Amino acid sequence: MNVLVINCGSSSLKYQLINSDSEEVLAKGLCERIGIDGSAIVHQPAGGEKVKSEIDMPNHTKAVQLVIEKLTDPQVGVITSLEEIDAVGHRIVHGGERFAGSVVLDDEVLAVIEQCNDLAPLHNPANLIGINSCREILPDVPMVGVFDTAFHQTMPKKAYLYGLPLSYYEKYKVRRYGFHGTSHRFVSEEAAKMLDRPYDQTKTITCHLGNGGSLCAVRNGKSIDTTMGFTPMEGLVMGTRAGDVDAAAITFLMEKEGLTPQEMDTILNKKSGVLGISGVSSDFRDIEEASEHGNDRAEMALEVFAYKVAKRIGAYASAMNGVDCIVFTAGLGENSGSTRRLICDYLGYLGVHIDSYNNSLRGKAMEISAPDSRVRVLVIPTNEELVIARDTKELLDK
Ligand code: AMP
Repeated sequence: MNVLVINCGSSSLKYQLINSDSEEVLAKGLCERIGIDGSAIVHQPAGGEKVKSEIDMPNHTKAVQLVIEKLTDPQVGVITSLEEIDAVGHRIVHGGERFAGSVVLDDEVLAVIEQCNDLAPLHNPANLIGINSCREILPDVPMVGVFDTAFHQTMPKKAYLYGLPLSYYEKYKVRRYGFHGTSHRFVSEEAAKMLDRPYDQTKTITCHLGNGGSLCAVRNGKSIDTTMGFTPMEGLVMGTRAGDVDAAAITFLMEKEGLTPQEMDTILNKKSGVLGISGVSSDFRDIEEASEHGNDRAEMALEVFAYKVAKRIGAYASAMNGVDCIVFTAGLGENSGSTRRLICDYLGYLGVHIDSYNNSLRGKAMEISAPDSRVRVLVIPTNEELVIARDTKELLDK
């Protein structure tokens, strides 16, 4: 089955065509600046070069049309006609409390997803636009939605309730949801396979560390806690997001600086995190380089980041009454041996020992803990698109 995997943002659309039987990526690409001047599609067939075409894309329907044109193009295409697309799998950010797993998309389900728009106003409407554009262009192709929040729906109440009046949860569903669920699920499953352990009898802490970052406590195959909350703001210090901050500090700053809620939101989401602390960049590569050149703020940003991750690992080891395995994934988790080292240096009490040579390697799934380490530590490249293709196939095969 060929599954077209779509990840649609407000002005971008990422895609991969995956043969879900062989799990081979046939082609992938990105439409950028949709609805903005200078839009372009970058397409790459498997084993081929990237081809960039600057084409006007006033809306997402045009973008989907171009994706199909590229996939069926005689030169850079990988299929001969639309009929070779058997299904479309969509990434959807927020499924609220309504979706604890992936679903086949129909009018009824789409109406429920729309009800979750309030919870993710920047993301869900864009996801829905992508779905509707695909339905317009591929009206007879079945579609599946895979939610970032779904994996965390197994969190118990004690983990997802805030210490706010309960009426706000009842009225507005203000609670912790968690994100990056597709990634946490994928790497925790892969970890169990790598360690040859039953997934449903393993305690894993997954560390998805990219521009956005979150940790997840996966006990016996189920998420029991995660660091992101009502929005992807909560938890770790991230590239540009503040993570946990005393809520009273927010109202204090708003008063002192005369900030509107929107302005405060921009500061918390776009100007904080390691960017805000270091003053250098939101990209950890730049910060690591600046720190190596003696920039104190950059060094401090890396220290704050690693300390927060290490503290949460401790918290989750306690929440699960132990931990068998810690997994690092996403841009930073997969690539930065120095950050992994900074974090793991706090974990001696758990019996974590890192093998320096393996920790210096990159680009593949591997174990970086030493043979005497009581907790196994793995690096596993995440693959959210593959999960979407797998779920799509599984649901449609039923
Ligand atoms: P992601 O959001 O998963 O794409 O991760 C992106 C982030 O990963 C970038 O902002 C970088 O900070 C980080 N990153 C990627 N490669 C490296 C690397 N080689 N060393 C340090 N950080 C990296």
